[in-house]
Formats: sequence, structure tokens, C-alpha cells
Amino acid sequence: MKKRDVFVIGGGAGGYSAAPRVNMLGGNVTLVEKDKLGGICMNWGCIPMQFLLRNAMLVQILKEVKEDGINVGGVDVDYSRLITAKNKIVESTDHHILDTLKANNVEIVRGHGRLISPHRVEVELDDGSREVFSAQKVILATGSVPKKLSIRGAEGGITVKEALHLTSAPKRAVIIGGGVIGLELATFWASLGCAVSVVELMPRVIPDEDHEIASFIEQALSQRGVQIYTEAEVERIEDGNGVKAVTISKKGEKHKLEAEIVVFAIGQSPYFDGLGLEDIGIKIREGRIQTNNRMETNIEGIYGAGDATGEMMLANVATVQGSVAAENAMGRDSTVDYRVVPRGIRTMPEIGVVGITEQEAKEKELKVKISKYPFAKNPKALMLREGSGFIKVLADPASGEVLGVHIVGPQATELIHEAALAMQMRGTVQDIEATIHSHPCLHEAMQRVAKQFFFS
Ligand SMILES: Cc1cc2nc3c(=O)[nH]c(=O)nc-3n(C[C@H](O)[C@H](O)[C@H](O)COP(=O)(O)OP(=O)(O)OC[C@H]3O[C@@H](n4cnc5c(N)ncnc54)[C@H](O)[C@@H]3O)c2cc1C
Repeated sequence: MKKRDVFVIGGGAGGYSAAPRVNMLGGNVTLVEKDKLGGICMNWGCIPMQFLLRNAMLVQILKEVKEDGINVGGVDVDYSRLITAKNKIVESTDHHILDTLKANNVEIVRGHGRLISPHRVEVELDDGSREVFSAQKVILATGSVPKKLSIRGAEGGITVKEALHLTSAPKRAVIIGGGVIGLELATFWASLGCAVSVVELMPRVIPDEDHEIASFIEQALSQRGVQIYTEAEVERIEDGNGVKAVTISKKGEKHKLEAEIVVFAIGQSPYFDGLGLEDIGIKIREGRIQTNNRMETNIEGIYGAGDATGEMMLANVATVQGSVAAENAMGRDSTVDYRVVPRGIRTMPEIGVVGITEQEAKEKELKVKISKYPFAKNPKALMLREGSGFIKVLADPASGEVLGVHIVGPQATELIHEAALAMQMRGTVQDIEATIHSHPCLHEAMQRVAKQFFFS
């Protein structure tokens, strides 16, 4: 039996970053995937969602340019072709991953992997046969699956994965969950003329984010026609004649929302079904594979990476965790540092976030000084006709070290990286202010918010 250095289970962001890293460090590696290479991010998460939202933005722009004297006629969206185009993008990224893995000498096996001992993985191959692989080290990168509510009529709702595969746009949709994914889907469908309702249990949408940003986006979405119900609990879904009735309870009052499509967007659960973890004795805590910041599990030689570990379920985090797991499996001494993790929300306008929120600073009794700057004062934003939104910076009042940046406005998911780099280098608002920015550009708003710090 061939003994490889590392065996990776799962070909999503965590697994496909781990495997090539093993090869780069001189090891031989096998990766098993039971479904599509690329996992959620490439197949029904980040990339397809980004593509659809880019087109939703285009529709918006085409509708608005009339005011500037550009007549493009009516904007007509062929939804089924849009989904076909999205599928083609997904296919091309899948090929890209396959090429990258092959170029890095990663042996790819198609099937379901299961640990039968700390150094052996049994794979049920796609043809139904079984093969046992032996490895010095194993990386578990098995990802996550969408959560569903256990309410009456839950089978009448679909997941975001299924929603992104619909070939016609719903006329009316109820999205359960006002988190990142719920709001992105609401933005997409609403911009194509669908009547969307979002139901959120917490007092505000994107509840973990800065409260001002959350209120701003809630208002912006409402202005686009999205009905948002916060502090509202879904009680049941009833199906009748192709129309679903969703009963929600808000502050004791019942509301009945009708729609053709009901989507659960209430988050993801770490996934490790049938992986044999219990038999090996791998510790699971609060439904996730427990790892330390070297991505080691409690069993020597077995590592975890990505959503399965439940630590900030983001593709950029999974990628870093995969690399760190691979490096440690190959004898290095690497750790994951979660201090600076930028994240984006592709609503209209977009949201970009890095570092602590004002609420967190209060909870931790951390002294911060806050500076804000509106895009309404940024010439480039005005030229783009996207002058709404603002940048909010939290910095240490004495040293000026940047501790958190929250942006809602044009291209916020790109702009946030200036802040992330500053934070990574333990930079200050003075550093951002002293950096000469080109003109006109959106980044000037970052320079301005830094300058504002000294006057607020
Ligand atoms: C709709 C949506 C949009 C998102 N957008 C963003 C975004 O814009 N930016 C961002 O950073 N993050 C985003 N995320 C989160 C991001 O997609 C995930 O954090 C990331 O994909 C996690 O990667 P992973 O490798 O841990 O898991 P996955 O992508 O789930 O990959 C795990 C893989 O393992 C395979 N597998 C599981 N068990 C076995 C087994 N026993 N044997 C063989 N194979 C197995 C699965 O088939 C799967 O392909 C989004 C998520 C969703 C749902």
C-alpha cells in the first residue's frame, strides 16, 4: 500500500489550499472529494453569488444612466440565460481548480472519505468500490451544510444552494434570515423586480455587524422595496396551489407573508457526517471539529481546516487554515492569526468590514475614538452616482492605531483592504492620512476619514 505524506478529505477552499501547499513543501498528497471540486465557494457560494450580484448592479446602472442622457431602452433580463451564464463561470473555475491541483501533483480521488484509523482513510469510490489509503497525516476539510429550521412545513422552504439554481426568478420570495447571505440574495432578486420579504429573529439585520451599518443597509434595502421584518419569528410554512404562506410572529402580532419561494438563509452547520470521527476519538465541541490555532485536532497527525472547524466560516479563513494545516503536517510551525480578517457583503451599497465593532469595544471596555466620513463628500462616489454611505474608523485614542473599519458604500468590499493592510502592519490613522492617494478615487474617502479623526 502506497503511503503518502498527507491525505486531504474535502476539495473546498480549505482542502484545495492545503493540498498544493503540501506539494510545495516537498510532500506527496492525495485529495478526496465526494462532490464537486471547489466546494461551496466556487459552486454555489462566493463566486456565483458575486457574478449574479455584479449583473444585478449592471441592471441598476442601466436603469439609472437615463438620467445622464444615455438611453438604452428598457432593461430586459433573461433569467434562465443569466443562470446558464453563472453555471458556465462555475464550470470554468472548477477547471481552474482541477488544473491547479494537477499542476501541483495532487492525486485526486473521487468518492466519500472516512477515517478508519489516524493514518488510514477508506474511500467509497464513485463506482461503489472501496479503497484504503494510508498517510502519515490527514487534513479534514469537509466544510458545512445549510441549516434549516425545524418548524411546521419546513419542507416547503429551499436552501440558498437550491435558490441559486432556480431557472426563473420568483415573483415573490420570503427569505428567512437577514444575515449576509439573506441580504445578498434579497439584493439580487429585488433588483430584478422580485417582491422580497426578509424575516430576521434579531432586532436588526446582519446582527453581528456595526449597528449603524446594519441600520443603514436595512433602510437602503427597504428603499429598494424589500420588506424587512426584524424581531420576527417564523412559525410555519403552508403550501397551497403553488403559493406558500409563511406565518411570522412579531412582538406578539401574527403576519402572513405569501410567496412562490421560501428560502432558508439562516447559516451553515459544520459538516462531518460519516467521517468516522467518533471511532477515532476526535473531539467535537459545539458541533464543530475542535482545533487549536495550528489547526491540530486532539489526535496527533490529524488536522482540521475550513467551515468544519466552525471558526469564522469564510472562504478566506478556510484558505489560510488549509495552508497552516498543510505546513504543520509537513513539519513547519505555523499558526492562524484571526486578528485581521476582512469580509465583504455584496448588498447595494456594499459593506466591507475589518476589526472590532463599536459594540465589541464597549463590551471589552476598550477605549476607542471614532471617526466618520460620508461618501457624499467624495467626488468619485458622486461621479459614480453612488454617494450614499460612509466609512467609520475605530482607533486607539492615544496611539491612533487602527482597530476596526466599517464601510458601507461604493466598492466597500474592495476599499476595505486598505484598512486591512494598515491593521496588519499595526498602522495608524496618521499613516493612512499621510499616504498620498490618487485623485479622484474612492480611497480618498479613507484618507479623509483618517484626517477627520483628529477633528472629531
Ligand atoms: C451562499 C454563500 C455565499 C458565500 N459567500 C462568501 C463570500 O463572498 N466570501 C467568503 O469568504 N465566504 C463566503 N461564503 C463562505 C464560504 O463559501 C465557506 O466558508 C467556504 O466555502 C468553506 O470552505 P471549506 O473548504 O471549509 O468547505 P466547503 O466549501 O463546504 O468544501 C468542503 C468539501 O468537502 C467535501 N466533503 C465533505 N465530506 C467529505 C467526505 N467525507 N469525503 C469527501 N469529500 C467530502 C464536500 O463535498 C465539499 O466539496 C459563502 C457561503 C455561502 C453558503
